[in-house]
Amino acid sequence: MSASVEKGINALKGQIDSTVATFFSSCVHCGMCADACLFYTETGCPTRTPIYKAEPLRRIWKSEFTLMGRIGKLLGLTKPVDEACFSRWEKMVYDSCTLCGRCSMVCPAGIDIALLIHKTREGLAAAGHAPQGLIDATRRSVETGGPMGVKLPALLAQIRHVEKDTGLKIPLDVVNADYMLLLSSMEIINFPEFIEAIAKIFNKAKLSWTISTESYEATNSGIQIGVSDIAAELVQRIVDAAEKLQVKTVISPECGHAYMAIRWDGPNLTGKPFNFKVRHILEVLDELRLKGQLKINKKDSRRLTYHDPCQISRRGGVIDQPRHLINLFAENFVEMPDAGKMNWCCGAGGGVSANERADDLRLKVFQRKKDQLDKVKPDAIISACSNCRIHLEDGLEEYNMDIPLMSLTETLAEYLED
Ligand code: SF4
Ligand code: SF4
Repeated sequence: MSASVEKGINALKGQIDSTVATFFSSCVHCGMCADACLFYTETGCPTRTPIYKAEPLRRIWKSEFTLMGRIGKLLGLTKPVDEACFSRWEKMVYDSCTLCGRCSMVCPAGIDIALLIHKTREGLAAAGHAPQGLIDATRRSVETGGPMGVKLPALLAQIRHVEKDTGLKIPLDVVNADYMLLLSSMEIINFPEFIEAIAKIFNKAKLSWTISTESYEATNSGIQIGVSDIAAELVQRIVDAAEKLQVKTVISPECGHAYMAIRWDGPNLTGKPFNFKVRHILEVLDELRLKGQLKINKKDSRRLTYHDPCQISRRGGVIDQPRHLINLFAENFVEMPDAGKMNWCCGAGGGVSANERADDLRLKVFQRKKDQLDKVKPDAIISACSNCRIHLEDGLEEYNMDIPLMSLTETLAEYLED
């Protein structure tokens, strides 16, 4: 057995606990998870059945942790986890899964299949079977702070532009601020309008807020690739900055998996509770709405719909807030079928967008989003995740759909009372 296979197997063994054992022993092989997954529904490929994507982990659980499996192993009857197995499952686990969690919602046995797939990634990554794009993004995150290699001078340059355009000061490294805003690299590079929108809204609401120049990146490649040590290190950088500035609340920006990483996985990764709150930007904006600090005086009469980012809505529970906010300005809001917690993934989360090899597949499975959109025929789509936004734009172009796409935060800033 090669050293890399041994490392992969050991990493899989390390993922097995009572939860994993209960999940695998509860599966009744009904196949219901298949119809919940866009990678199955849009390709019809049975190997893309969600629970099958966790097969390397199941094999290790069965052969090492069950009596029948051990006997089978002694008799040479169990299917091995070897180089060929890791090689085959690499594409199934990284290219054909966005960790969207939709399969977990339908399983009659209550199995969190997305969790099992995420744990399977830990074994694949340890065995050296992760996509190059994700490996590079993770290396850049460790070395420079972010997956796109965006360094502080680039952020400061964008901040200078925003300050010039808005006439507003962006507060940096303010000790004792109420809120510390995180940003995704995509917002810094592709959508600096988001920073501008925050500056306008927070200034109107007279919020005490800041950005840390020591830790501003929200995304966490360690979680996407499946290397917990790196994921924990990236979370710890945010914790250190928040503690140094003694802020009360850390704001996760318009990025789905970043919210999952810092709000829900974060304390588990670092091994202790945070001494600050974590809120998604939509939660903060909705709190401002409730306090009467978000005044909108423009209406949008177009037929608008909302794409729920999986990690924010389904896995994060932020479902009502965007709708309250949209209703501040939308006169003609329409829900897509399956909206909210059962929304269909855009097809590019969970590191798929960082994996060039998966480009054709993610565009193929966008057919599912197209079908949803075709049912309501919106004039414009609103969302709250930069990664969804980039991929939705790609998908709309691929399928010749001329529908504008709007960020919720940016739209609110645009419609803000003068
Ligand atoms: S988490 Fe989402 S993409 Fe992954 S297998 Fe489940 S339904 Fe499919
Ligand atoms: S839906 Fe649940 S019980 Fe049915 S095959 Fe999938 S994981 Fe197993």
